[in-house]
Amino acid sequence: MNRRELIQSAPTAAAFAVAGDLFLESGAARAQQIDPLRGHFHPKGKAPSTHTLEVLRQAKAGLPFADTRDFEEQAKGLIASMTEMTIPADAGHVAWDMERFRFLDQQDEFDSIHPSLHRISRLNNNYGLYEVIPGIYQVRGFDLSDITFVRGKTGWIVFDPLVSAEPVRAAWALFQKHVGQGLPVSAVIYSHTHGDHWGGVRAIVEEADVRSGKIPLIAPFDFMDFTVSENVYAGNAMNRRLFYQYGLLLPAAPHGYVGQGLGQAVSAGATGLIAPNRLVTEPIEEFEVDGVRMIFQNTPNTEAPREMNTYFPDMKALWMAENVIASLHNIYTLRGAQVRDPLAWSKYIADALYRFGLEAEVMFASHHWPRWGNDRIQDVLRGQRDLYANMNNQVLHLANQGVTINQIHNVYEVPKGLQEKWYCRGYHGSPQHNARGVIQRYLGFWDCNPTTLIPLSPADSAPLYVEMMGGAAKILARGRDLHDAGKYLLATEIVNKLVEAEPQNTEAAELLADSFEQLGYQQENPGLRNSFLAAAYELRTGIPQGNAASSSSPDVIRAMSTELFLNFLGIRMDGRKAEGMRFTMNLVTPDNGEKFIVELDNATLTNIKGFQAANPDLTLTINRADLEQTMMGAKTLDAQIADGTAKAVGNVGILKRLAAIMVDFDPRFEIMPGTKARTADTGAFVETGVPDKGDPYQAVPRQSIAE
Ligand SMILES: [Zn+2]
Repeated sequence: MNRRELIQSAPTAAAFAVAGDLFLESGAARAQQIDPLRGHFHPKGKAPSTHTLEVLRQAKAGLPFADTRDFEEQAKGLIASMTEMTIPADAGHVAWDMERFRFLDQQDEFDSIHPSLHRISRLNNNYGLYEVIPGIYQVRGFDLSDITFVRGKTGWIVFDPLVSAEPVRAAWALFQKHVGQGLPVSAVIYSHTHGDHWGGVRAIVEEADVRSGKIPLIAPFDFMDFTVSENVYAGNAMNRRLFYQYGLLLPAAPHGYVGQGLGQAVSAGATGLIAPNRLVTEPIEEFEVDGVRMIFQNTPNTEAPREMNTYFPDMKALWMAENVIASLHNIYTLRGAQVRDPLAWSKYIADALYRFGLEAEVMFASHHWPRWGNDRIQDVLRGQRDLYANMNNQVLHLANQGVTINQIHNVYEVPKGLQEKWYCRGYHGSPQHNARGVIQRYLGFWDCNPTTLIPLSPADSAPLYVEMMGGAAKILARGRDLHDAGKYLLATEIVNKLVEAEPQNTEAAELLADSFEQLGYQQENPGLRNSFLAAAYELRTGIPQGNAASSSSPDVIRAMSTELFLNFLGIRMDGRKAEGMRFTMNLVTPDNGEKFIVELDNATLTNIKGFQAANPDLTLTINRADLEQTMMGAKTLDAQIADGTAKAVGNVGILKRLAAIMVDFDPRFEIMPGTKARTADTGAFVETGVPDKGDPYQAVPRQSIAE
């Protein structure tokens, strides 16, 4: 088992296959003892309770199902459905599989899926080529995101080439078959920095054509600085958390994974990145792209650190990137990310409304489907503007009256008028976790009660709770009562204490799993649903182990600046093993003219760009292009020095000593107590940490996480 391979599998559908295999192994043994629920993928899975059914019934009664415009807009302009339900990856596995989401269309409702979530998942089952207006086309349902083709003077201008190459190639083939007239790609535009908007670019353009300037590749300013940086420093933790937010171990099934709100899933093909050759730097910039007049609106620090909308004045067509989709988006992202700025987001939507939206006749984006007609466009833009502004303003309104991060999700409500608009429903962000995110942005994690200021770790405080509550048996009995009464949050509150205090207590783990599962069924938001169901899965099965296909992307490593790489080495270094070590090193990369001081002192590895120490222990000179080979794990630093590619003057031994205290992060760390790697038959715990023998100077991050 190579832990790097698992890291690499994390945001891909390959992880589903891994989970499936492992599940069958452990599931078969247990299925004999427990009568499994028919149709549930897990032998310990439970049906929705009467309480859950009632929650879903009430939710349905309050939702605006009479408004069917989304279904009309989603279906409008269909040119051709995609007939092959799967798209193979070049590496031999399946890159994309829509077959597994067909069950969503086969029933009008499921008692284990929130009716609103079922609705968006049906809408996301669109799978084919669509006309937006004559000259603008979208292929939808080939990935988490949509790919868009705009007719230029000489060819097709491509917006946002998905996550991976194989779905892009399939989309291009479908498009060419019906519309493309054999014309080539004449330009590519990345709307923003997230991986589902550029990862498949190598399927449609040659890098040489971009480098030579033959094909313009346009992106917002600072694009390369932000494509990778958002996901590097805490990347391993984010990858682990994706298993919760994106439900990576859950099979697509009525009691499991039912889509991701933004789209059905993330494709698992080959990812790559080509750097843009033209950046949009001004707040508003107008220029022609292959003869098409475009007005670009930079919207930094909204849905992504760098993002831009585009208006086509001659077609009255407005591209809102991912700033306006058919959902409330994330202010806070459950996989972990810096909290976004809802006020800035709202203002950029307002700017687009008054700059372009008063005359636009069609509005489209990189997820979901277009809106036609100026009234509809204005309604959506105004609603989205107010959604983010309201969340910002009213959460702070409440915070200024003493409502804390631990209460706000139970106090703040989206205004009723917005709740009745489908495009304001929480299919990616939820009002609950976003409201907490707004407080986090402005006030941080602390609710100002000193009890929570430097609290004990859960495992340290839980035993006292268990003792004071009268022991495991009493907690289990009361927890069972609460569970049976449908008070699932109260049940999790006390049973979680027992799980924290007694991680090996199977009965406690299973009762907690049962409560999480009901809470999962009740959620409208896929991230919340997946998180509850993922925790239930791991409590029941343990964290799966296994091999997964590698999809490492050298392109993404190349996108890391040397400074980012050095910063990340400081995170990978185990400071506890660096006590007493000390060195100063000069690093020079002549081909790009950069130089650094890298210093280890006080158990801390630091670097500063643009400086050189007068008397370093070591001076290492290596071209950045060669350093990339080491960052990618293709060639060790030792080998670079040995063959003269790198020149080392001074004490080379410090590199070896530093390498020895670098840690390869393992994404299989435990989240729920007691879930670490149980063997299927005995239930015994197994050791998982097989040391990775990769190059210690390899840069682990590989691609931007889709969103
Ligand atoms: Zn996206």
